[in-house]
Parts: sequence; structure tokens; C-alpha cells
Amino acid sequence: MKNYFKSDGKDALRATLSQPTLIGFDFDGTLAPIVNTPDVAVTPTPIARRLTALARLCPVAIISGRSIKDVRGRLGFMPKFVVGNHGAEGLPGHYDSIEDKCMDALRERIFSHAAEMAVLGICIEDKGLSFSLHYRGSRTELPALRFIEALLAPFRNDLAIFGGKYVVNVATAGAPDKFAALQALLEESGMAGAVFIGDDVTDETVFAGAPSTWLTIRVGGKVPDSRAMYFVDSQSQVVNLIQDMLDLLTAYGHRG
Ligand SMILES: [Mg+2]
Repeated sequence: MKNYFKSDGKDALRATLSQPTLIGFDFDGTLAPIVNTPDVAVTPTPIARRLTALARLCPVAIISGRSIKDVRGRLGFMPKFVVGNHGAEGLPGHYDSIEDKCMDALRERIFSHAAEMAVLGICIEDKGLSFSLHYRGSRTELPALRFIEALLAPFRNDLAIFGGKYVVNVATAGAPDKFAALQALLEESGMAGAVFIGDDVTDETVFAGAPSTWLTIRVGGKVPDSRAMYFVDSQSQVVNLIQDMLDLLTAYGHRG
């Protein structure tokens, strides 16, 4: 894992963008700064302005853990693709009609414990194809996490459960993850390669699966066990990264 701005990051970006490329972004913590209330997260104007320009030069995809309906209004620009629920929602021709009895049973169990979760500072986000249980607002992190673990224990073998920053996510088992989503979009768009930028555990599916012809960048400093090729120190540097993409693509004169 190399520092994008302090090594050969821009050269690697140049090489990747010399072929027809799809550019994918996670949303929270990547395009939008992490905020205490997930409800107020939006793309800052300097990033949104550059993404508007970028989307004219190549296909851009947003692959978020949020539902499509939720994330779309926060973007501030119109990407070619928006995929929600960690990859499970919105892929062309697939998966939107996944029905899972397990998710229904889980929904019932979660909402029957809503009052206790509120006391522990756990916030429930029902996204249809997945749940996010946020404990960022909790003053008692460990009890909150233990409560969530006990709540999900009966479903451990039947649903996909994965962590994130102050969140436990639960999704339909077998649903496409972010890597599967990006692969499908690559095929759909007919592009040869991909650049993907993300900041969290679910983005690691892309980092781990990416062939050497892709470029992957993790936001938030060096993480020893990350599989991303490069990192940038903070979300505030993403604007410079997108500017690099614009400069290179303008020079190449690509059209998406
Ligand atoms: Mg994120």
C-alpha cells in the first residue's frame, strides 16, 4: 500500500486511464466527510463540481452501503450508475427482486427490540435488502456492540454480517458485494479497466478482487491489512485526486 501523493500514484492513474475506464466511488467517508448524523452527509461543492465534469469524460459509478434512494439526493451530480446496499441494489437486470424470508424474520426481531436499542444509542437503518445498525451515537460502545451481536446470533449462518465504522451491516446472503457490482458495471459499460476509491471494510471486497489492470485507492491513511494499491491520508484529499483524474482525462480527450 503506497501513499498516492508521495509515490508514483499519478503515474499509475495515468496508465490506468490510458484505456477506457470506469471510475467508481464509495460515498460516505470517500466523497462526503463522515459526520455524526448520517442524515446530513452530502458531497462538498468542490467535489460535486469536479464530479460533474468527470461524468462527462467517462462513466462514473457510485457504489454505496446506503439505499439508492437515500444516496442519490446527496451526490450533487448525476453519475451513470448508482448501486446501493453494498452492491445488492440496482445492478442492471439483477437482484432487485431478491426476497429473503430470513431478512423478514430479522426485521421482526430488530424492531421488537427497538426500545432497548434506542437506550443503548443504536440507530436502526432499514434499507430493504440490508440493515445497518449504527452505534456511532452510543456512549457505551461495547455494550451496544454486544447487544447487536446477540441480536444477530440466530441469523449468523443465514445472512451476510459485516462491520464498518461504528456500524454492523446485515445483508441477504449471496447478494452481490461491491466487487461483484463493479465487475457487472464494467461489463455493462464495455470499459477495459476501473479505478475505485473507498474508505471502509465493504470496499475491501473491491481492493481484494481487483486485477492488476485496475487502480484502487483507500481513503484514511495506511491500513496494514488493506488490499488497496494506494492510500490517501484523508477525505479532504479526495478533491485533489479527482482533479488529477480530470487533468489526465482532459489530456487524453476520452469520452464515456
Ligand atoms: Mg464509506
